[in-house]
Amino acid sequence: YDDRDGKIWMDGQMVDWRDAKVHILTHALHYASSVFEGERCYNGKIFLSRKHSERLLRSGEMMDMPIPYTVDEIEAAKRAVLDANGLTDAYVRVVAWRGAGEDMGVSARRNKVRMAVTAWEWGSYYGDAKMKGAKLDVAKWKRPSPETIPTSAKAAGLYMICTMSKHAAEAKGCSDAMFFDYRGYVAEATGANIFFVKDGEVHTPLPDAILNGLTRQTVIGMLKEKGITVHERHILPEELDSFEQCWLTGSAAEVTPVGQIGDWTFEVGALTREISDAYEKLVRS
Ligand code: PMP
Repeated sequence: YDDRDGKIWMDGQMVDWRDAKVHILTHALHYASSVFEGERCYNGKIFLSRKHSERLLRSGEMMDMPIPYTVDEIEAAKRAVLDANGLTDAYVRVVAWRGAGEDMGVSARRNKVRMAVTAWEWGSYYGDAKMKGAKLDVAKWKRPSPETIPTSAKAAGLYMICTMSKHAAEAKGCSDAMFFDYRGYVAEATGANIFFVKDGEVHTPLPDAILNGLTRQTVIGMLKEKGITVHERHILPEELDSFEQCWLTGSAAEVTPVGQIGDWTFEVGALTREISDAYEKLVRS
């Protein structure tokens, strides 16, 4: 991803893609002092753009890492990057991190918080899973307690076990992994929230130890508008047998049907298709 043409916004400047570099003593590289957003632009408009920028600022605050930009400035930077790269349908990645500078240890209060905005074309997150249903592995790692790490921040440190779990899943021919949490409840995938259908009603984990995804919130709203009952609750592993349908939600993942999680299987049913289609329509409207 580093060797290509294009422009990246870095700390207020538009730089050539290949020149968007950081120093080896960047605090974030050593201590995971980094927060980010993943967004999608459809027909020239980023879906829930301001909400993503607001979440980025909140994630920074949670990490004692105030980001020196306002929502309006972040919005303008995203717009500038899309325009500079001639993109109308793209994935947008905003990242803010503690840079290199005065300190190089766990404490780095004096090191500047930096920000960059990039965008590139990115097709379907799970390839052809949209049709057949994605195959998921069960992660051996558990989503941590909110007393262990700020689980509602979209922070790099939370993704260490995601990468490890996704690598293990891919080695088994799966496209992602589903986590249980530290209590044993169903949690989320490595970059997406999870929903189940049973008897025409929808069940999804409470966001008390997972990221309360913007897509998750959007889809819950869509379901309720359709008059479908949504249960946000703790879900036990033994319940997975009884669910008929399953899908994932995320800004990158959109609404992706799931066909299998470990030995549990699901059909790509009518409600899954309906919600996936309705989401696609909504983001482009
Ligand atoms: N959980 C995790 C761990 C994620 O990385 C993401 C993607 N940001 C989500 C859930 C879904 O969040 P959103 O719908 O806001 O993209």
